[in-house]
Amino acid sequence: MGGRPTIRVPEACGTSVLCGSAYPGESPEFAPPLRPFLESAAEMMGTSHAATGLLTGGVTGLLVTSDPVHGLVCGAVGAGAALLPDLDTPGSAVGRSLGWVTEWVAVGVQALSRAVYRGTSTPTERRRPQDGGHRFLTHTLPGCLAFGVLAALISLVPWGAALVVLAMSALGLATVTGAWTFVGTARLRKRVATVTAFVPAAATLLFATGSGPVFWLVGLVVFVGSLTHVLGDWLTPSGVPLAWPFGVRGKRWWMFHAPLTLHTGRSRVETGIAWASTAGLPVVLAVAATAPA
Ligand SMILES: [Zn+2]
Repeated sequence: MGGRPTIRVPEACGTSVLCGSAYPGESPEFAPPLRPFLESAAEMMGTSHAATGLLTGGVTGLLVTSDPVHGLVCGAVGAGAALLPDLDTPGSAVGRSLGWVTEWVAVGVQALSRAVYRGTSTPTERRRPQDGGHRFLTHTLPGCLAFGVLAALISLVPWGAALVVLAMSALGLATVTGAWTFVGTARLRKRVATVTAFVPAAATLLFATGSGPVFWLVGLVVFVGSLTHVLGDWLTPSGVPLAWPFGVRGKRWWMFHAPLTLHTGRSRVETGIAWASTAGLPVVLAVAATAPA
């Protein structure tokens, strides 16, 4: 037979731009005037995660090197890294990015997440066990750290840094431009984004020649991008297990969320955050470029 493996994709995460909630039905009802800002049934969209990672990655690059070119490269990397925590879901943007290859990786990450959940949950949590697959291990601070360390380790080998930059940039730029429905078709935008990703990869190859700190900068930006995703999910009602592996009120997987959670999934607030982040990168790059040395 040898055909493409069939992977069961959770329905809650069924589209490439909207990760979707693993907790369907968690849609609190709010009074009508507040509903557009507080109600939420889904998670933040992939496009929003990528856009916020674009800004935080770029700012990180500027803070470390104060070079606008590095800011641009780090922004592209941050956009892709901001999708990594959803690698615990085969149907997410990152889970589907390289077809069955990444889907299988996501299945493995999801299984690992469930195993770690079962292995570290407290007696209180075991009384009402959760699935432990999505929004658990990869949405913790050690999870983000692991993504950053892995990226840094890959960047230590020849061509490794350029490869990480290429993969993260292609994923990030294709996802950010997924929201640009006023420009061409989705397929065209994806192709242009993928080709564009070779520019930061080539820049990394040139910058990396004879230079030492590239590996930790790539690792740092991947960590910051992943953390940006986790903080984005913190703004939604489902929350994220920020304290893991430490216990909070008898739970290690206590789900923290913002005091006022966002209406997500194509809402005005989320769309505003995404567009402000996308527009924010050129602004900070221009400020850095014109700032006196
Ligand atoms: Zn997530």
